[in-house]
Amino acid sequence: MALIVQKYGGSSVADAESIKRVAKRIAEAKRAGNDVVVVVSAMGDTTDELIDLAQQITPIPPQREMDILLTAGERISMSLLAMAITNLGVRAKSFTGQQAGVITDAVHGKARIVDVVPTRVRETVEKGQVAIVAGFQGVTQHTNDVTTLGRGGSDTTAVALAAGLSADVCEIYTDVDGVFTADPRIVPSARKIHRVTYEEMLDLAASGAKILALRCVEYARRYAVPLHVRSSFTGRDGTWVADLPPEGEEDMEQPIIAGVAHDASEAKITVVGVPDVPGTAARIFEVVAAADVNIDMIVQNVSAAKTGLTDISFTLPSTDGAKATAALAATQEEIGFESVQYDDQIGKLALVGAGMKSHPGVSAKLFGALRDAGINIEMITTSEIRVSVVTRADQLADAVRAVHTAFGLDGDGEAVVYAGTGR
Ligand code: ADP
Ligand code: ASP
Ligand code: MG
Repeated sequence: MALIVQKYGGSSVADAESIKRVAKRIAEAKRAGNDVVVVVSAMGDTTDELIDLAQQITPIPPQREMDILLTAGERISMSLLAMAITNLGVRAKSFTGQQAGVITDAVHGKARIVDVVPTRVRETVEKGQVAIVAGFQGVTQHTNDVTTLGRGGSDTTAVALAAGLSADVCEIYTDVDGVFTADPRIVPSARKIHRVTYEEMLDLAASGAKILALRCVEYARRYAVPLHVRSSFTGRDGTWVADLPPEGEEDMEQPIIAGVAHDASEAKITVVGVPDVPGTAARIFEVVAAADVNIDMIVQNVSAAKTGLTDISFTLPSTDGAKATAALAATQEEIGFESVQYDDQIGKLALVGAGMKSHPGVSAKLFGALRDAGINIEMITTSEIRVSVVTRADQLADAVRAVHTAFGLDGDGEAVVYAGTGR
């Protein structure tokens, strides 16, 4: 008998019919003799709709209230799912993040899980019942306030519970057949990856492949939780994210490139005319960090010899754009730069693959593919297993397809997207 944690994303539980369909799947897993814990996301685009609603009330909602609002989405789906499973003659009980013992820090909107104490979940499972847990939410250690884990955070809840319960596997059910060599919504010829390492999956997730939340992959790697990403709409095997190959399978040589990720949700800030003296970059990024903004790529130009001034550009989530520009503007005099420019019409593409470490020419081929497609590169960064570039937002999809083809990643068939709006 295995203990399985199953996570169902929003598009898998978008309406009453879908909830009943998912309930059947869960009941089958239970009847097959497994212990089953389920983590569920809010129905369809509920989270986005709640955010829109708050925006209509106030442009900058208090973060504590925002978290209480958003956690309501997962409470709706968890209770409906418990009802649907009970209807099938299998006993099920739903729990909020707090009831399930998901303890977090106090950073509203992107809280980190600091502990998981799943006493009630364990008791429920021991009684032979299915435990349904609301994803994406927790409670702070000291103040008992409700928190959310950041967009896509139900993935993280699932892995944290799987680790806390020592589950045999964590299955992530979604609206595509697994992790593909690129987002199938942009590249229909993308191929399903059979197995991907935590290391590569981390870079894909960090670069915007929203099939798995970044923190979920970090957590899975730290606690060695094997992930099986698959469709809730078929019975097909999906993608395994793990270090060791599944039992009975040979460890084949890894392909050079795992895939291409893209991210249209970032913006670029350029601090223009920065005095090129020691300590200025430190000061700029201290200001940005103090505003609680995570940055990604950074480029500093060579300073013009005559003026001793340079430009520093960096990328950040566009949702943090207003916060970061305001914080920088407030220190303009102190730091002594000329101006701050904000550009949210950028797109980011990343090519990821562990094989890059030992294969020269990957960057050259990537830049060549973009040149042939007539796409200008605005920023470049590299790491051991990733090359990232910034392009204009309206050229991003073409860039992804060009690079995907250039690296021979196109498959024969067309990747299926079973549901979801891609929002
Ligand atoms: P869920 O609601 O199940 O959590 P998400 O929308 O968060 O689903 O994630 C699934 C989506 O991720 C897919 O529909 C697909 O558009 C997108 N995606 C982005 N990159 C990839 C990739 N490399 N492989 C598969 N899907 C990807
Ligand atoms: N409902 C949340 C979101 O839309 C969490 C999740 O789906 O994982 O981001
Ligand atoms: Mg998701």
